[in-house]
Amino acid sequence: MSALPLVFDAPRRGKPPRHLADLDPAARRQAVVELGEQAFRGDQLARAYFGGSGLSAIPAARREALTTALLPELLTPVREVTCDDGATRKALWRAHDGVLLESVLMRYRADPEAERDDRTTVCISSQAGCGMACPFCATGQGGLTRNLSTAEIVHQVVAAQRSLDAGEVPGGPGRVGNVVFMGMGEPLANYSRVIAALRRLTDPQPHGLGLSQRHLTVSTVGLVPAMRRLAEEGLQVRLAVSLHAPDDALRDTLVPVNTRWPVREVLAAAWAYAGVTGRRVSIEYALISGVNDQPERADHLAALLAGRLVHVNLIPLNPTPGSAWDASSPAAQAEFVRRLRAKGVATTVRDTRGREIDGACGQLAALA
Ligand code: SF4
Repeated sequence: MSALPLVFDAPRRGKPPRHLADLDPAARRQAVVELGEQAFRGDQLARAYFGGSGLSAIPAARREALTTALLPELLTPVREVTCDDGATRKALWRAHDGVLLESVLMRYRADPEAERDDRTTVCISSQAGCGMACPFCATGQGGLTRNLSTAEIVHQVVAAQRSLDAGEVPGGPGRVGNVVFMGMGEPLANYSRVIAALRRLTDPQPHGLGLSQRHLTVSTVGLVPAMRRLAEEGLQVRLAVSLHAPDDALRDTLVPVNTRWPVREVLAAAWAYAGVTGRRVSIEYALISGVNDQPERADHLAALLAGRLVHVNLIPLNPTPGSAWDASSPAAQAEFVRRLRAKGVATTVRDTRGREIDGACGQLAALA
């Protein structure tokens, strides 16, 4: 399979140190052997990292060399903001080279399709910044700084799990149920590291976090070659397409990459993904007052989606500071929903708790 186009290559601001979570189980064993240890120490380290079991299984004299080589500190917490009585926790992290990234832990049913017991969702970043330049998005205004490493992506989930283990989140200890790649960045522009992260998150313990593939969601603005490549990975993750407009004229302005892969091609790749995986594709649509929330656009969208294996997730826009964009009125939103449902298109409006802590991606980093 060909590599993604060079235009999406991130500047290499600073290569993160190698970490156990960058490596698959075989590479981990190889790495510990190169450090003069027996191969099984790789599995012990993985159990300590993913399972939170600590390093007691490893002789004290060997711990420092192994942790220095394979468990370096990747992300330092800079700030954490909570709301909804602690049920929404947004973390700002600093990587080794100073770049900032965000993750959000939500302990409520943020995903309308989640099973009832799976109420804990972590929203993670795949890049520091983003090169997709969507004009309504805080992250898009700052451009792309660099791709996150596999371990930097995975660690956002591991850290959330540790907070839950430690009982830091109201509701008592619990498990991360869902992971959504909807924080900073375009996940499919950091393709190989995101795929490796998906495998680390879903590999059974002790080799990974043991999450269900079906409970992971990868979002994209519509990088068609990467969407088609994802369909061939043999993964059962959910694909979420950030569409935001049904017509190319408007989508060219809201999602600039549309000029390269128009709506028709994006949706064809989405249906191909649904066909291969049997998974319902999520269409993300940020409702922006007077821009994309007109009744005729609802009808146009419904015509594109009716009869497909699809679910529409309408997102009331969270305006970025100083932005000219505003959220749709409740009446416009209700009419948009009504028109989609009238054509049999499953539609929900996203729960936007967390807004008061700058809940849209990139806003905490923008304020730092
Ligand atoms: S909306 Fe998503 S893809 Fe677009 S600029 Fe923001 S982070 Fe990037």
